[in-house]
Amino acid sequence: MLITHDTRCALDTVVDLVNTVPEETSAADGLSDLAALEQFVAAHEISDVGSLTEEDLTAVREIRGRFSTVFAASDARAAAELINELVAAAGTTPRLTDHDGYDWHIHYFAPGASIADHLAADCGMALAFFVVAGEQERLRRCEAPDCGRAFVDLSRNRSRRYCDSRTCGNRLHVAAYRARRKEAAG
Ligand SMILES: [Zn+2]
Ligand SMILES: [Zn+2]
Repeated sequence: MLITHDTRCALDTVVDLVNTVPEETSAADGLSDLAALEQFVAAHEISDVGSLTEEDLTAVREIRGRFSTVFAASDARAAAELINELVAAAGTTPRLTDHDGYDWHIHYFAPGASIADHLAADCGMALAFFVVAGEQERLRRCEAPDCGRAFVDLSRNRSRRYCDSRTCGNRLHVAAYRARRKEAAG
């Protein structure tokens, strides 16, 4: 499937958004306050959001929970229903743009949309393309036992099982290697 620059950005954004939820309940929330949200918006170069408020923070945390369920959806139909709800609640106004030197692409968020609606519309549509392409199963959660972070598997044969943010694949690889060595030595 063709993944445009903007879709790629939206995917990175939604994965990072979902993963601001701490893995352990004792850890800090990555979107604990307004400053954290402002930092998130700056880091992902989210345009046209204006000044942010506490209401924005609450709304973004709410859609974060909804996006999280998309990555846990059991099949395409379940994912489609979740995405439809997200996008419908945000309202969309598809329009072509070539802002900031990027090639022509489509923005889905309505002009003047809040940050939460902006994310729901554009990230929701980015995920929708995976369902349309029959690739919903690429929207995954890391299989490492103590992880579960969301990621998008863009590997050719959909073989990725672990996220890369904490080198989960490596940790398991090392554990398996050690186990084999131990077996051989014993
Ligand atoms: Zn754009
Ligand atoms: Zn992981």
